[in-house]
This record gives sequence, structure tokens and C-alpha cells, in this order.
Amino acid sequence: MTDVLALSSYAADRWAPAGGGEILVSAIDGAPVAAMPGIQAEIGDMLRHARQVGGPALRRMGFAARGKMLRAMAEAVIAHKDELYALSALTGATKNDSWLDIEGGAGVLFVYAAKAKGLAGGQILLEGEREPITKGAFAGQHILTPVRGAALHINAYNFPVWGMLEKLAPTLLAGVPAIVKPATVTAWPTWAAFRILIESGVVPDGALQLLLGSAEGALDLLTCEDVVAFTGSAQTAAKLRAHPRVIAETIRFGAEQDSLNASILGPDATPDSPEFDLFAKEVVREMTVKAGQKCTAIRRALVPAPLLEAAQATIAARLAKITPDDPRLETTRMGALAGTKQRDDVRRQLARLQAEATMVAQSGEGPNEGAYMPATLLRCDRPLSAEFVHSVEAFGPVATLMPYADVGEAAELARAGKGSLVMSLFSNAPQTVATLVCETAASHGRIAIIDRDSAADSTGHGSPMPHLVHGGPGRAGGGEEMGGLIGMKHYMQRTAVQGSPSVLDALANI
Ligand code: NAP
Repeated sequence: MTDVLALSSYAADRWAPAGGGEILVSAIDGAPVAAMPGIQAEIGDMLRHARQVGGPALRRMGFAARGKMLRAMAEAVIAHKDELYALSALTGATKNDSWLDIEGGAGVLFVYAAKAKGLAGGQILLEGEREPITKGAFAGQHILTPVRGAALHINAYNFPVWGMLEKLAPTLLAGVPAIVKPATVTAWPTWAAFRILIESGVVPDGALQLLLGSAEGALDLLTCEDVVAFTGSAQTAAKLRAHPRVIAETIRFGAEQDSLNASILGPDATPDSPEFDLFAKEVVREMTVKAGQKCTAIRRALVPAPLLEAAQATIAARLAKITPDDPRLETTRMGALAGTKQRDDVRRQLARLQAEATMVAQSGEGPNEGAYMPATLLRCDRPLSAEFVHSVEAFGPVATLMPYADVGEAAELARAGKGSLVMSLFSNAPQTVATLVCETAASHGRIAIIDRDSAADSTGHGSPMPHLVHGGPGRAGGGEEMGGLIGMKHYMQRTAVQGSPSVLDALANI
């Protein structure tokens, strides 16, 4: 690619002046790829437009029409996917990484479009059964209606297309207009996918806007009727959730943060059991897919103490077969990090982890230019007394192997992450799995249990599914996204309506 893309925000149904600002560069070789807008769009005008034009238009459509719109949006993304794949590669993503981002993102839209078919009525979602609260003609019903404001989506850099679409699907189906603010370092695939959505012509005026560049100041303009959905680091989330306006107006603030996800090889495993191999393979996969830049990646690999050496040797042998390379090559299994700043951050965090853990294996080095770094396995022999391995996130191809003595200790170590998006268990002993689930579920948003029977069909440790909740307690941010219809509820208000049965019947038909 030779032309530098001139990116622009999309505000109040118009493309704002393009380019002239910060130059964004390729993760592959540092070549210029895109220019951010030199002038920031007027956030106040965007919010007003969303509330006054987008919200009413979406609410008029009802669930069925909004579901059809999501399907058409997904089809538009798929129809233009080649263009997106080419742009995605420049963020360091391999073909497989881009598939997760682009087709995975379209997949979320498709799932929500299908969910819309099961929703009765157009404006109001009934929740649960009617409650007979007295013996007479007076009952209660919980209903959900879309909030009257706008959704401000602040996204992370690692999945520029999926990250936008996984938030848009539940938001738009709920009937709420969105302003998408992508992370700057990889803003161009988001911009390109957003353009495709707008040019599909299926989205009503005001329902979708794109804010490129800083969102500084945006939170000052929000009201109690708006929603913020944030994905990114714990540090930025802490700053934004403590924003005086967010507190004063009780603004809904959902956060998806980083987490130190664990994967546990069950105590029943042996070096020749299928679960042992499945575990080792998954650890390596999670270290190398997206060059480890996945909020759900395995950061802590927990193995029974007697299997520590064998697990290390197997993972090391697998890593030795991988060398990061140009993601545009069909043969490349691991690409580059999103940028050299991100790579340098990972190196810094890796150095901190090495205060408690030893480097025991690496993949090949990869090219010198660009944002490549080798996948690195650390080992921590005393994880119960360690701190950094459970708290320092190296957002890249880094994982730490650690031993546990028994099931109780494995659970304690998993919980030492202080709240994670996901944990996986590789075991063929259902009773042990049940105990571990019981001991750890409250600290996790999702648990993937993989054994010899389910492995071939499994969606793996690291893939959030649109049907299931993505999010986690504590360190992971305390938020939830997707989860099928659950995901819409973050953009809707629950109201307990009390009245006569005929009034409640009428509500069901609006
Ligand atoms: P980040 O630095 O926290 O930035 C996240 C987003 O917040 C970006 O869009 C950023 O915009 C924006 N931002 C920063 N300061 C802001 C402010 N004062 N006001 C409004 N917006 C602001 O995180 P990142 O480096 O993009 O992403 C990496 C992190 O995200 C990792 O820690 C990873 O674990 C986490 N993550 C979590 C999930 C999840 O689902 N849980 C998914 C992906 C990533 P600019 O880019 O313009 O600064």
C-alpha cells in the first residue's frame, strides 16, 4: 500500500475533514499507513445528534427491523472483507488474527440479528413472568426499554473491527445510538469497517457516529441517560470511572479491562493423556494468536507440580517451531504487535515479571524492523508467595508456567488474579472439574472446560462468544458484554410496572 489513508470522524451524518493529523504507521515495517484528522469533531454536537435524531429513529424501528439492520450490516462487512483483511495485516495481524477480528465481528452481528427474531413486540422487552402481587386485579411485570441517551463506546487497539461490532450489536438492537471511539494506534481498520456500515445505507441517521482522536472532554458532556462502554487498560478505566460527571450523574459505566487469565491442567493429567497435549497446545496458541494481545489470553499456566518439567519441555518444543514474521505471508503463524510502543510496554512488563519468574523458553526472534517480539515462556516455582505473576499484565506473547500441589491450591492461584475474564480447565475428571468450577467461578466471567471428547468442537480458551457473557469481576473490570440478550440490558432500563392485567397486556403489544 502506498497511499496514506486520510481518516475522518463521522459526526451528525457527515464525514468531518479528513487527515492532517497524527500519522499512524504499519506494525510490519513502520511505514506510514494513515493520517488521523487534524481537527477534533465536536463531541457535544455528536451527542446531541445521537440523542435527538438517532435514538428516536432506532426506537421507531422496533426489534425486528433493528435485527434486520444488523444482518445487513454483517453482510456488508463480509462483502468487503478483502479490503479489511489487507488493512488489518498492517496492524501486525496474521490472516487467522484478522479472521477473528473481521469475520468474528460480523459473526456477532449475525448472532444478534438471529436473537432479534425471538423478541416479541417492538418497543418494550418484557423480562420474566408476570408477578401476581395481590389476590385482586393488580399485578407486576418487569419491562426493559432503551435508555434515551447515547452510548459512548471507547475501544482498545487489539481488535479494531470486532471491538467495534461486539459493542454495536447489543447497543443497536436495544435501540440506542452509538458513538464509536477507537484506539488511535489501530484506528484505520475501524474507520474502514465503519465506512462500510455507513455506505451500506441500512443504518438510520444519527444511529452511528465515529469519533477519532482523543475523547478527552467527552465525559464532561454525558448525562444520566447515556452509557459508557469502555475496553482497555485497568489504569484508564479507573480514571474514567472516577470522572466527577460519571459519579454525579450516576452514568452507566461498563468496563472490560485486562486480566491475568489462568489455564489449569487437571491433577488427573499425565504426560501421555490427551488433556496434557491439548493444554500445551492451547497455551502456545494463546501466546501467539494476535501476538498475545488478547485480553482473554492465557497469562498463567497452572500445572500439577509433578508435571512441571514435562509441561515446560512440551511447550518449549512447540514454541521452538514458531518464528514471528510478516503477517501477510500465508505461512506466518505469529505476526507483530500493534506498534513499537506496545512492544516496548510488553518488554517493560516482562522485565518486571522476571523479578519473580525465570525465562525458560522462547519462539524464534522475528524480523528486526517492525513491532515483532518472540513468544516468551516464564516459570515461577513459588507462585503462592509471588505477586507480580498474578498482577502484572504483559499485553503480548508472554505466559508464566507455575506448579500447584493440589486442587485447593490450583483454585487459590486462579483466584490470585483477583478477577479474570476467563479460565480454562483441561481435565478428564468431571468431579475434579466440578470442584474447581465451584471454587473459582465467582472470580471469573467465563470458564472453558476442555477434554478429549470436547476438544475438537471446542471454541477454545480465548474466544469470547456472542451468545455468552464476556467480562469478569474485579481486575477484569466488573463489566459484562454480549451474552446474547443479556448484552442489551446494559443499554436498557429495567422498570417494575404495576397495574391491572389489561394494562400489562397492552404493554406487551407496544
Ligand atoms: P488504553 O490505553 O486504556 O486505551 C483504551 C481506550 O481508551 C483507547 O481508545 C484510548 O484512546 C482511550 N482513552 C485513553 N485515555 C482516555 C481518556 N482520558 N478519555 C477517554 N478515552 C481515553 O488501552 P489500550 O492500550 O488501547 O488496550 C490495551 C489494554 O486493553 C490491555 O490492558 C488489555 O488487557 C485491555 N483489553 C481488554 C479487553 C477486554 O475485553 N476486557 C479487550 C481488549 C483489550 P487512545 O488510543 O486515543 O489513547
